[in-house]
Amino acid sequence: MMRAGLGMITAAVALSLSGVSPAEEINILFLSKSVGFEHSVVAQNADKPSLCDTVLSKLAEQMGAKFATTKDASQINAENLKEYQLVIFYTQGELTQEGGKDGSPAMGANGVADLLAWIENGGGFVGFHCASDTFHTPEGGPVTPFLQMVGGEFAGHGKQFVGTVKVVDADHPTVASIPKEWSINDEWYTFRNLNKDQMHVVALLDPGEERSKQEMYNVPNYPVIWCSERGKGRVFFNAMGHREDVWENETFQKSVVDAIQWSSGKGSTQAKPNYAIAVGEESKPAAKSPGISKKKEE
Ligand SMILES: [Zn+2]
Repeated sequence: MMRAGLGMITAAVALSLSGVSPAEEINILFLSKSVGFEHSVVAQNADKPSLCDTVLSKLAEQMGAKFATTKDASQINAENLKEYQLVIFYTQGELTQEGGKDGSPAMGANGVADLLAWIENGGGFVGFHCASDTFHTPEGGPVTPFLQMVGGEFAGHGKQFVGTVKVVDADHPTVASIPKEWSINDEWYTFRNLNKDQMHVVALLDPGEERSKQEMYNVPNYPVIWCSERGKGRVFFNAMGHREDVWENETFQKSVVDAIQWSSGKGSTQAKPNYAIAVGEESKPAAKSPGISKKKEE
């Protein structure tokens, strides 16, 4: 026992000598409150960890990061957020509603404002898939502050298919582990209210042959992975992650680690807005925007 204890002290000294002190450890909070629809990947059956809980906690451990998971959205408040460097959202619906599909507690009335202020002050935000299906914009109303921060709002999805994720900023740290053209089966969202003035597009979805099979995907390639800088903080979003085999995919898992590192402030920012260049809008003025048909998750 003594030997083990000494070994740990030695390791701690070695770490501090190499410039990595325990204080620099990333503390991550994962929120998966689901109000109107709960994805299988975040279902905690009989209080067992969800697939996302299992994958994210494993990745955090490998990174030497601390990880906590919750469906209790009231934990998103100014006081509690001080404990964390990064939050990951795989949420759905109006989080200020008590209960919902998973019966979890509501976010407080100041939750979104506290979250946005925390990001401005240096916090990191990572959103997957239905984070864009959270705090919807009322019909005809201005984009909600939450979705403005995320960078895009879920508009709809069709049948699942193998789409091609095309990296448009190959030097970006968040796509260091994925192929420049990555074909993978998932449920592909379309978006409205893209925050074109602030987003840095990292990858587009090319629906390929699906264009001729599902009308809603008969659109030019559109953003599916993007990021932005917000004050001192960083925001990252990846539209993927509906399917269980996506979360189990090794390449996807590596990209999650890269996203966590970047969003928590590691490496160069590279988040200058680039929407028009990324989608090639300047060369295709007649391009039709991605489908805006409103369809609920089912
Ligand atoms: Zn989905």
